[in-house]
Amino acid sequence: MNIVNDNTCSWINDLNERSNLKTLDRDKSCEWLIVGAGYTGLSAARKLSEIHKNQKIIIIDAQLAGEGASGRNSGFLVDTTLNDGFTSNKELSNYKKKTDIYKLGIDAVKKFIKQYQVDCDWNESGKYFASSNQKDRKILENFSKTLLKLNFEHSILEKNDLSKRLGTNFYNLALYTKGGILLHPGKLVRAMIDTLSDNVELLENSQLNKWSKDKDTIICKFNNHKIITKKIIFCTNGFLRSSGIKKNYNFPLTLTASMTRSLSDREFKSIGEPKEWGVLPVRPMGATIRMTRDKKILIRNTAEVHSPFKMTKSYLDKRSSSQKLGIKKRFPTLADDIIKSSWSGIVSRTRNGSQIFEKIDENIFAAGCYNGSGIGVGTLFGEQIALKASNENSAEINVINSRNNPTLLPPEPFLSIGVKTRLIYERYRSRNDI
Ligand SMILES: Cc1cc2nc3c(=O)[nH]c(=O)nc-3n(C[C@H](O)[C@H](O)[C@H](O)COP(=O)(O)OP(=O)(O)OC[C@H]3O[C@@H](n4cnc5c(N)ncnc54)[C@H](O)[C@@H]3O)c2cc1C
Repeated sequence: MNIVNDNTCSWINDLNERSNLKTLDRDKSCEWLIVGAGYTGLSAARKLSEIHKNQKIIIIDAQLAGEGASGRNSGFLVDTTLNDGFTSNKELSNYKKKTDIYKLGIDAVKKFIKQYQVDCDWNESGKYFASSNQKDRKILENFSKTLLKLNFEHSILEKNDLSKRLGTNFYNLALYTKGGILLHPGKLVRAMIDTLSDNVELLENSQLNKWSKDKDTIICKFNNHKIITKKIIFCTNGFLRSSGIKKNYNFPLTLTASMTRSLSDREFKSIGEPKEWGVLPVRPMGATIRMTRDKKILIRNTAEVHSPFKMTKSYLDKRSSSQKLGIKKRFPTLADDIIKSSWSGIVSRTRNGSQIFEKIDENIFAAGCYNGSGIGVGTLFGEQIALKASNENSAEINVINSRNNPTLLPPEPFLSIGVKTRLIYERYRSRNDI
């Protein structure tokens, strides 16, 4: 099975075309092989190259580096996420562990962009958990209590205020958190590629098909060649399962998103010239939506069980039509044909929402499964798995290790049936806000 991506993602198309691409064109050996060149793999490569200046490090990707989920996400670098519940102290302490990890993730991205002077349209604008449905007030009030206990600055906003801030009358209420950053995901991951140091070799369009362990080495087979490595780190996120990693603990989901062209000055004026903003849904399957700094609207309103390897154009077109309706509902005065591009991307989930950060076997490591928080947590986990694989410890690893471990998934076909049923149910519950 080959990973084939659409080439229609606006974020990626904003960037300059890269040159000097290298593929695996002969057998190689190395001390370190990193599989997957998204935020996780690139951050692992950056950290390994600092620790092992004289060792050979290869990072390899089945497609172009950064063009997986890392270059095609919605660009919310989050400090908090909204989950149902929060009724007991145990849940509160679990939630705190999650947000401690998010904070470290934000710190890791901040440190990277400061060190390398990265321009990725960073905006500490905060974020809205918004709903059109008054029935969601209870969820937001509960969420507010949790945030209060953990000292996250936030406020509940009503329709009038929201319509001024967002330029749409669609939402009836929202919880605004001051924390949370909006950024250009493509620019961030491109900077991670551009700043790889000289002792890291980046190989692209080279898919790992099979790997096996033989005493102290790991043999990795690609289409025509192989790499023999001493240590390997799997950073394939949505493809961890197909890489044979923690197969009973993670599964891929396919998300699709669309972005409009920039609104004209007249269109932008007609919606009240709002500042850049980002809205996350209150219910899991509602739409994530953003007004970017260049006056484009991004919408992401699907999460599906689908082949992670390819989405056909007709499938993507159907999802794009649903996103057109999502924009129309929120901005009825805008033209019908303003969507400029639609794309899909793969994320990885575990049953209990916990991430994978592990030594799988001697010299074999893996990090992934961040749900909707991979910008920060992927950057953090990439750096920290490199430390762990180098037998080093850190305060960050202690925080990561205190999270709950991912729980076992049911076997197939129960898993697929269960996930599909849950997604249909959640989509129904979110139907007003898709
Ligand atoms: C539409 C969408 C919206 C999202 N929105 C947000 C958001 O707003 N905020 C947020 O924090 N997160 C968001 N996410 C999630 C986030 O993008 C991911 O969690 C993050 O990019 C994971 O980074 P990664 O490096 O682990 O994985 P990826 O970026 O997926 O990189 C993994 C790489 O592994 C490669 N690979 C896989 N298998 C092989 C193989 N066999 N051989 C070689 N290479 C292989 C892939 O080609 C890919 O490039 C979103 C994701 C999507 C798809």
